[in-house]
Amino acid sequence: MTSHVWHPYAHLKTQSPAPKVVGGEGPNFTLDTGEQLLDATCSWWCMIHGYAHPRLVAAIREQAGKLCHVMLGGLTHEPADRLARELVRITPDGLNHVFYSDSGSVGMEVAMKMAVQYHQLQGKPGKHRLLSLMKAYHGDTAGCMAVCDPEEGMHSLFAGYLPRHHFAPAPTAPFDAPREACEADLTALRRVLERHHHEIAALLMEPLLQAAGGLNMTSPHYLRGARELCDEFDVLLVFDEVATGFGRTGRLFASDHAGVTPDMMVLSKGLTGGYLGHAATLATDRVHDAFIGDTPHHAFMHGPTFMGNPLACRVALESLAVFEEEHYLARIAGLSEILRTELVDDAVLAAHPAVEDVRMLGATAVIETRDAKDLAGVADHAREQGVWLRPIGRWLYTMPAYITSPADMRRITDVMKGWFH
Ligand SMILES: *Cc1c(COP(=O)(O)O)cnc(C)c1O
Repeated sequence: MTSHVWHPYAHLKTQSPAPKVVGGEGPNFTLDTGEQLLDATCSWWCMIHGYAHPRLVAAIREQAGKLCHVMLGGLTHEPADRLARELVRITPDGLNHVFYSDSGSVGMEVAMKMAVQYHQLQGKPGKHRLLSLMKAYHGDTAGCMAVCDPEEGMHSLFAGYLPRHHFAPAPTAPFDAPREACEADLTALRRVLERHHHEIAALLMEPLLQAAGGLNMTSPHYLRGARELCDEFDVLLVFDEVATGFGRTGRLFASDHAGVTPDMMVLSKGLTGGYLGHAATLATDRVHDAFIGDTPHHAFMHGPTFMGNPLACRVALESLAVFEEEHYLARIAGLSEILRTELVDDAVLAAHPAVEDVRMLGATAVIETRDAKDLAGVADHAREQGVWLRPIGRWLYTMPAYITSPADMRRITDVMKGWFH
């Protein structure tokens, strides 16, 4: 039977038929062939509790019986109010206002629009461009494409269609680098700000871990330095924690490693435990209060139909409760330890001619190869061993669900290094 589904990022001529998933439990999903695959990617990094988590499923069922959806324009409801309160409680101090949307990309669009409008309202309409980093990935909508890495990113084809922004080099100092080792990265950032600050509304970054752009990791000192530079040049700092949020880097948020409060923070992927698409853009009082005023320009003109969807908010609340009650940060520390000993400390991998680097942070690890060809066939190799791996270009990575057992974590790392051993 021909499929009518158009798959993402697929070469239609060469793509192989997509395996059909019929269910899942814990870290595994099941195919119609009966095959069980251990998901090393937790479905694009969002299914942090694994599949069919009984508490999350029950929360959706219960909420569905009460209220599946209602518009947030002029109305509110308990799950939206409660989730906003919880997000303010758990995120860095000062992020007191929550704007909901339905995906990570839209959450970033909201942040970018808010930043530009903020400066308009402050009487600085010239600050209407953004500053992003090379290797950045912030989503697939037009506004987001324009702030993804313009050379290596997936969107270079659309350069003529997109607004032009500014880019600073991607940070190069590793996670454990001392402050001095971040000076070159921060100087590069400062140079762009010195030249263009008068037209820059906000600096956007995926803090500590540039994910889809090649799992590039950097130091908390870089975040602190970026905060200082943004204050110096009157530029808002936006942390895109769509991938890093909810434990991926080993702390609840990447910003927690640095003790930095951005002016805005965007959350999505792990927010609902992956059970429904949703996002939140958080803002400080400084940003929010600039929108209090009498002119028509003071309203924030944005409102996705499904923002604050009750099912999504309810399951996000349950996801957070499970995260805290079941001590996920301790589980992540356990997974982290395995990733370090099995991958980063592996001598064969380190010496392998195809391997450029092996690094990890929290519940994320990557084997960076020299050439994407070095990974041709790795997904099939993994599937034969019952593991679902999907490399991005030259990067073979895992971002497991946090409920992955130590034995399953080792099955994943064995398959990853087995490709090279
Ligand atoms: C996935 C991702 C996005 C986009 O989120 P969608 O829900 O796919 O629109 C934005 N930023 C980062 C850092 C991401 O990893």
